[in-house]
Amino acid sequence: MIYVVGHKKPDTDSVCSAIVFAYLLNEWKKAGCKIMKIDDEAVPVIQGEPNAETKFVLEKFGVSVPEIMTDGEGKTVALVDHSDKVQSLDNIDKAEIIAIVDHHKIGDVTTPNPILFVNFPVGCTATVLKFLFDKTGISIPKDMAGLLLAAILSDTVVFKSATTTDMDKEAAEELAKIAGIDDITQFGIDVKSKLSDVSGMTAKDIIMRDFKDYNMSGKKVGVGQIELVDLKMIENRIDEIYEELGKIKSEGGYHTIVLMLTDIMKEGTELMVITDQPEIVEKTFGKKLEGKSVWLDGVMSRKKQVVPPLEKTFASL
Ligand code: MG
Ligand code: MG
Ligand code: MG
Repeated sequence: MIYVVGHKKPDTDSVCSAIVFAYLLNEWKKAGCKIMKIDDEAVPVIQGEPNAETKFVLEKFGVSVPEIMTDGEGKTVALVDHSDKVQSLDNIDKAEIIAIVDHHKIGDVTTPNPILFVNFPVGCTATVLKFLFDKTGISIPKDMAGLLLAAILSDTVVFKSATTTDMDKEAAEELAKIAGIDDITQFGIDVKSKLSDVSGMTAKDIIMRDFKDYNMSGKKVGVGQIELVDLKMIENRIDEIYEELGKIKSEGGYHTIVLMLTDIMKEGTELMVITDQPEIVEKTFGKKLEGKSVWLDGVMSRKKQVVPPLEKTFASL
């Protein structure tokens, strides 16, 4: 068996791309793949419960939730949407990685043999998968097209994220036709609004839903992000969230924790910060922290607009 898996704390791209890449590998196996030898059946797995947005997408296109798998020891695996060990299966060093399809910076996973490794600097793994379908002449069924489209809209925040490329937009348009989605923008807002409803969530859930750990020049830094259709939806939870951020910081031994409250419609981010050195954050973004937060106009992407400049500042100390 080939287990196809996205990163920990799965987002819609990690789940949908795992499902669709498993489908593609199986189609390649049937058709006779010219790129690589495929001996086994592929099956998608996820490293944790899907979030509300992903559940909505899977239900919408009638696709079942993959099984959860967290340990890679002795397994044959294909990775999507990540190539960092910390984000991957436990014991990933003891797994055999046969393929990686991604759209992030190259991580620290290594392999003893040549593998299929396709990484484009685009807005979503699903866009890279669309390319692989087209390139190998495999047609995309309606449900798989729906999953890929939803992943693109999710990762690019309905094309508003700075990570968005023309390739993402073109892929989305073609996928929408196959999936029978007439209004791409409205569908995107429907998808994104599923994660905007924080009323039933604890402060910890809100922070940890999409939270990533980084090592920045030897300092432990955590960056979480929550994308909201309107920041008002979280207004009355701010004090509670700060309290929880403080707890996570001290219990986890973090130097800095930031939580991005990204307003999809206003296209900016209220950055909540708890840090040992506020000047690092101020130097990075060129703005004074007002209390413990700062509004960053036009900042939508953790990967492109928050993590690299923070890493740069940490490296310069
Ligand atoms: Mg992801
Ligand atoms: Mg992604
Ligand atoms: Mg993402």
